[in-house]
Amino acid sequence: MDFLPSDYRSTLGLPVVNIPGCSPVGDNFTDTVAAVLLFLQGIGPLPEFDELGRPAWLFNETVHRGCNRAGFYEEGDFAEEYGDKECLVEIGCWGPVVQCNINKRGAINNMGGCMNTGSPCIGCTMPGFPDAFSPFYKRPPGTLVSSSASKVHGAIIRALRNHTRFFNNRTRRWDEQGHVPNGWGNVREPNLIEKAVHFIYKKVQKMGSSSKI
Ligand code: SF4
Ligand code: SF4
Repeated sequence: MDFLPSDYRSTLGLPVVNIPGCSPVGDNFTDTVAAVLLFLQGIGPLPEFDELGRPAWLFNETVHRGCNRAGFYEEGDFAEEYGDKECLVEIGCWGPVVQCNINKRGAINNMGGCMNTGSPCIGCTMPGFPDAFSPFYKRPPGTLVSSSASKVHGAIIRALRNHTRFFNNRTRRWDEQGHVPNGWGNVREPNLIEKAVHFIYKKVQKMGSSSKI
């Protein structure tokens, strides 16, 4: 693309196609080749490519949106060292601003992928790679705002969810009898404040519904 005009088309009517990655995910490559071949056979439309020539259906989302650690990010829970299970942004992950599908698709045969195997994203699908993302494994400056905000609201959200989860791990009979009447003997009873919050929660949940349970 550095040497061809921006409106370049091959004799078969194709633009420059970029399938980025270091190395590219094999399934992304075969997926794109298949789509192009269908077009050349007159069976399918010209596949959609983004402004950088990347297959749009493969590279239009950030890696962060498909990351199995995104729940930790949302709750403000971050890894401090390699091997931790939480979000890797504070040890150098650029996933929130990098377009890549490896976490959803997997590296090979739907298995693996950077964060799935514990590695922060270093932006290898982006034109700015590697310079824009170096030094690798250092916390991106943007996280000073985003992950700090996430820690504040995440702490509140986590506490609320733990509360809801606590009650959803109980059966209705336990609450009606006021104790756990069977072999689940080690389950603690909610205190008065927890019961009051849960009472309001259930009222709001059932609002507008004929269900009483
Ligand atoms: S590990 Fe990276 S991509 Fe995954 S949730 Fe954290 S910041 Fe996002
Ligand atoms: S380093 Fe980032 S952009 Fe490169 S394959 Fe891994 S997740 Fe995708």
